[in-house]
Amino acid sequence: MIQENKEEYFHVRFSPIQNQQGFQVGFIVTFSNITERVILQEKLQHLASIDGLTGVLNRTFFMQKAKAQFLKFQQYGGQACIIMFDVDRFKSVNDTFGHEAGDAVLTGISKFAKDPLINRGFIGRYGGEEFIIYIPDVSLVEAYEWGEQVHQKIEQKTVIVQGAKINVTSSFGISCFDDTYHSSSSTLKDVIREADEALFEAKRNGRNRVHFVMHSSSYKKLT
Ligand code: GH3
Ligand code: MG
Ligand code: MG
Repeated sequence: MIQENKEEYFHVRFSPIQNQQGFQVGFIVTFSNITERVILQEKLQHLASIDGLTGVLNRTFFMQKAKAQFLKFQQYGGQACIIMFDVDRFKSVNDTFGHEAGDAVLTGISKFAKDPLINRGFIGRYGGEEFIIYIPDVSLVEAYEWGEQVHQKIEQKTVIVQGAKINVTSSFGISCFDDTYHSSSSTLKDVIREADEALFEAKRNGRNRVHFVMHSSSYKKLT
């Protein structure tokens, strides 16, 4: 039964009908409803793309999506940013409160993934307590202001696990790119490496802060 307002999928098969002389005189058209199979495939695909703990994209799927976006950037130009952030001294959270509590902190932090700015792009879990975001059509100023806001929100957020109040800080690294700086030979890896370097700088300068690199005609090219 086909329900109104519900998307259904069909496999359509045309089987020719021949008369006794061997001439084709028509078709038998068979419709098989494959909706359940398609929905199951979509569910499996979704599960395969998601990080089980935090609900954001897993690294493999993030990279697939980011590569596709980057290809568009290389073809059509524009600007975009990669933002990486990492929980500060997370090992001590695990050591002090236990691994489960650490998991709860990661889940709590990933809630920021619902932020409207991230919804313009997408977020993935890049490593243990490190997240990565790709936002197309965003300026460095916007990305930086967002990073500042989120790193403050993370600092202010208290995760309560079995009565223990846990507060963490985070460090951010941002690399923005546009077609005036990045040549066609620049790769996504280059941009991610730059964001990672900015993150490393944030750590080196005391953590709980946002660092960035920016390349455009108005900035000196980094060598
Ligand atoms: P830094 O400020 O330099 O980032 O220090 P850090 O302690 O956060 O960094 P480090 O790389 O030394 O430790 C990261 C820790 O994150 C170690 C690892 O056990 C923990 N971790 C990674 N994935 C998970 C996870 O899924 N759950 C929990 N609870 N811990 C995790
Ligand atoms: Mg860390
Ligand atoms: Mg880390």
